[in-house]
Amino acid sequence: MAINTEALSVRYRAASIDLNGKRLLITNFRNTEQEKDLSEPPNCGGVGRIRHFRRTLGNSDWPPNPLPIDPACKALGLQSTDMIRAQVFQSAACNWRCWYCFVPFDLLSANPDYSELMSPAILIDRYLDQPNPPPMIDLTGGQPDLVPEWVPWMMAELRNRGLEHQVYLWSDDNLSNDYFWQFLSEADIELIATYPNYGRVCCFKGFNAESFAFNTRAEPALFDQQFELMKKLLTLGIDLYAYATFTAPSRDGIEEDMRSFVDRLQMLDENLPLRTVPLQIQEFTPVKQRLNSATADALQNQQIAIEAWVQELETRFSSEKRASNIADIPLRKGSVSHLTH
Ligand code: SF4
Repeated sequence: MAINTEALSVRYRAASIDLNGKRLLITNFRNTEQEKDLSEPPNCGGVGRIRHFRRTLGNSDWPPNPLPIDPACKALGLQSTDMIRAQVFQSAACNWRCWYCFVPFDLLSANPDYSELMSPAILIDRYLDQPNPPPMIDLTGGQPDLVPEWVPWMMAELRNRGLEHQVYLWSDDNLSNDYFWQFLSEADIELIATYPNYGRVCCFKGFNAESFAFNTRAEPALFDQQFELMKKLLTLGIDLYAYATFTAPSRDGIEEDMRSFVDRLQMLDENLPLRTVPLQIQEFTPVKQRLNSATADALQNQQIAIEAWVQELETRFSSEKRASNIADIPLRKGSVSHLTH
């Protein structure tokens, strides 16, 4: 049976935020399965981890991933590089259950055994209280947008401490709800829209309704909603990017459906495909336990899908444009005022 995304979102939001105390439910990695996958022990008293974002993984022939390296380097005025360290904080709930998620599912259910309510002030204190704080903070999940307040609260805290130009802030969004518009005040939205060193990546969980539902366990109709949510975020004029995952249960019609997927991205913004990075699904520890013959096929099918994606981009964009720094690809600036919703 498909996940009831709305009901789960309501439940997890309630467990993940303390509005009066201004605290958010953050994963504590100590004694978790995820801890075993980390290259360095958790930091910040267990609620943080250091992640090394790399442009390429091994000898893979998959297209490189410039996120969030290039946007962060551009914003901070750093030289281009192939690896960047980030301080990661992870929200403790997600309303979907992607079979390929590198987070064990018991760290996605607001489980009090593996999480703590933390204020942005304490997160920043702990981030600064380490020998060599990374140049960027990554707010990930889980689905951080079950608690959209997290981003503006962190921004306000960084600004209070005079760090807004020194630290790059990056956050993820699985495009599963409109809590951003439901729960943020106009002042919060204005802060996000005008904050200097912020980038946001939204994840399309498939290239058609079938692959979306197979990947997330959510209702297939929510695939269309992902485009609606992205469209609204594009009106903000923020530095916005997308990921896409291409694992699919069937190889039938992949080329045609990929063409229509890229068409739909371009309907939102002509250049959006050049700001979209396909993510190769890999077998992290928790994923191995969830593999079966259907997921094995899906891993094979992502290879066909990526070839179709590359083909689509080659026919639509010049080689010069395709080789551009992803952070230099222009989007139409928020042409619709975000304050008119
Ligand atoms: S939406 Fe993201 S955090 Fe949630 S299950 Fe899928 S991959 Fe994991």
